[in-house]
Amino acid sequence: MTVIFGAKAAPAYTIAKDIIHAILCLSDVIAADPVARRHLRIAMVENYNVSAAEKLIPACDISEQISLASKEASGTGNMKFMLNGAVTLGTLDGANVEIAELVGPENIYTFGLSSEAVINSYARGDYDPAAHLEADPRLRAALDFLVGEEMRATGDVARLERLHAELAHKDWFMTFPDFADYCATKARMLADLGDEDAWARKALVNIAKAGYFSSDRTIADYNRDIWHADYAR
Ligand SMILES: *Cc1c(COP(=O)(O)O)cnc(C)c1O
Repeated sequence: MTVIFGAKAAPAYTIAKDIIHAILCLSDVIAADPVARRHLRIAMVENYNVSAAEKLIPACDISEQISLASKEASGTGNMKFMLNGAVTLGTLDGANVEIAELVGPENIYTFGLSSEAVINSYARGDYDPAAHLEADPRLRAALDFLVGEEMRATGDVARLERLHAELAHKDWFMTFPDFADYCATKARMLADLGDEDAWARKALVNIAKAGYFSSDRTIADYNRDIWHADYAR
């Protein structure tokens, strides 16, 4: 399996840069491991742009749309993957919710907290990453791998330690509560990928339902609900 990250960081967004650094290190660590490299490859696309997207999106089987529920207004990458036959592994965020309504539960894999639960947790200010680390040894191991021997030998230790501390003490985007559900949902998805006919059906349902996201329909809806512009038809 090859996992491809297409993303960019704003120049001053230190933690985003640390995340990209960690992905690049992880890619090298896995490529250097004689066992792991047979099963997994990680690619972080440099200067992700439309030309790269045109090649990558049609090649993908799984579209990971894993923003924390309530954070993404819509997303458009999710629609491009759907239109090209990828099946979504996503949170209940932005247009993932509309995709789920369009394709039905057998043709999408959703996981994680609801927007309401996230918004309530921010309002109460009671999110505690340490409690999740204590409760889930697999999460603890995944976090600590970031600053483990292999990663330290490959990357910039200060960057890796800063990212580790950010997650352990803050985890602003609440990745920890969704972690176990993400792992279980992804494992179920990878098992289903083995049934080629059933998978092809899922891909086709996604393609067939993607027309809903046409700009003509979207703009007509905006005009009816918000703009009320009286334009000639
Ligand atoms: C679609 C697209 C985006 C936006 O992706 P989202 O998943 O909606 O954030 C960004 N960059 C490129 C090159 C795109 O094609």
